[in-house]
Amino acid sequence: SIPLSFFGGIGCASSNGILVKGSNYLEELSKTKYIVFDKTGTLTKGVFEVNKIYPAKDFDEKTLLYFAAYAESGSSHPISQSLKKAYGEKIDLEKVNNIEEIAGHGVQADVDGKKVSAGNIKLMKKLGINPSDEHDEGTIVYVAVDGVYAGCITISDIIKPTTKMAIAELKKNGMKKTVMLTGDSKKVADKVATEIGIDMVRSELLPGDKVEQVEKLLAEKGDKEALAFVGDGINDAPVLSRADIGVAMGALGSDAAIEAADVVLMDDDPAKIALAMKISKRTLEIVR
Ligand code: ADP
Ligand code: MG
Repeated sequence: SIPLSFFGGIGCASSNGILVKGSNYLEELSKTKYIVFDKTGTLTKGVFEVNKIYPAKDFDEKTLLYFAAYAESGSSHPISQSLKKAYGEKIDLEKVNNIEEIAGHGVQADVDGKKVSAGNIKLMKKLGINPSDEHDEGTIVYVAVDGVYAGCITISDIIKPTTKMAIAELKKNGMKKTVMLTGDSKKVADKVATEIGIDMVRSELLPGDKVEQVEKLLAEKGDKEALAFVGDGINDAPVLSRADIGVAMGALGSDAAIEAADVVLMDDDPAKIALAMKISKRTLEIVR
């Protein structure tokens, strides 16, 4: 039978907005020594502000933003939301066809009968485009129209106010390795990692690469240790199910992520992870 104090632990967690799907996960949480985070929307706000627009020859800022926002109309990615917000006007869905989201790359759609691609350097390379545009203000979204480079838009993602403290607290409470995995560029990822004091960072990953990284860490950890993955949900379902404990952050994340997760955090505050670990340890001390 399940010791009564487990229910106390699960109850205490839930009153703090931490939903633990079973007592076994409380036990796994208490054994966690490896903690792996997604970046965008998890450690950072994932609400990007458009910084600057750099149109290429034959384009202007307004047209470039128009194509980007229209191409992004079917996406729920934070990048898409910021581009639509910066565009500011209502999107006329009649003008958009064949919307395609390419995980870890970006989006593609027909806008006004033109093939528009918006995404990272990997997406441009797929199209045989080699943009020489390099900017320092954050994440870069490159745009191509009918296979011709149309320019880029730089947007910045802000670190959540509690992230740095949460990482420090996790380390203080015995975490052996803190890791950040992201599809974003090395430049942006390294900057965030340094600022928040995370041990290991891997960037420019596709969703499948994240699973591979988690598998490597699972092989490295000790028998009695557990690995937790924390993500905001977008494209994270495969890693959430692969980790010993999958933690989905922000109950507004995708349904697939909430389904795949073992622990669901109602809000998107990284401090809740440290708190969940604390509650689990205390519960297990009472059980033993
Ligand atoms: P993360 O690991 O940071 O959460 P994702 O796997 O969701 O990132 O995306 C990885 C990268 O792919 C992003 O940093 C971005 O460059 C590109 N990308 C993904 N979705 C989109 C989109 N809708 N629009 C533009 N770029 C995108
Ligand atoms: Mg993400």
